[in-house]
Amino acid sequence: MKIHGLQKMTLLDYPSKVAATVFLGGCDFKCPFCHNFEIVNGTLPPIMDEDELFSFLEKRKGLLDGIVVTGGEPCINPSLPSLLSGIKDLGYLVKLDTNGYHPEILNNLIGEKLIDYIAMDIKNSRDKYAMTCGLSFLNTDIISRSIDIIMNSGLYYEFRTTVIHEYHTASDFEDIGRWIEGAKAYYLQQYIERDTVPDKSLTSPSKDKMSEFLDIVKKYVPNSSLRGIE
Ligand code: SF4
Repeated sequence: MKIHGLQKMTLLDYPSKVAATVFLGGCDFKCPFCHNFEIVNGTLPPIMDEDELFSFLEKRKGLLDGIVVTGGEPCINPSLPSLLSGIKDLGYLVKLDTNGYHPEILNNLIGEKLIDYIAMDIKNSRDKYAMTCGLSFLNTDIISRSIDIIMNSGLYYEFRTTVIHEYHTASDFEDIGRWIEGAKAYYLQQYIERDTVPDKSLTSPSKDKMSEFLDIVKKYVPNSSLRGIE
């Protein structure tokens, strides 16, 4: 397996843990606001192979609590189970970031005890899901299945939405709230404008809008918070 990025230490990516973040290439979504689009579309070449990653992880034993595996979409990589298994064998906790479109893979990884924490994106309300992912069609029943699996996994998890001025309205958050009602944790992340995203015309929502949306989702998920507010 090729590794497309490695952040050697982070206090932000794995809640309450000191972690490193591993980026895998490729994704089945084409989100116009993607901050990692260079590794999704293959513009950014791999930086190391699996052996080099494991040699780094071996040296960091005792210094890091966990490893975040992100992308791109990690679940499209057929070697993901063996990668996670190798990381677990070194004694690390594993956090997996996913777009939620691979519920059966998620289910297997949970069953094999290869994940300790899951962060799943909820891109938008059901009606606007495909558009927000940059696709002409998407089956939201598949997203529902992932939500179900995660909420019944017994693991630590979070759902999160990157909030974009042009894409999200109050009624979208009513729908999302009902969809994930009773979840353990939900974060609304303010979109940060960058010139590396596919659609550079997208803009950040105001702080007031973020607070308005938070009030809506808190009716359904009391443990909801804002993240990355500028
Ligand atoms: S799902 Fe994530 S990695 Fe894939 S295109 Fe969307 S934002 Fe980028």
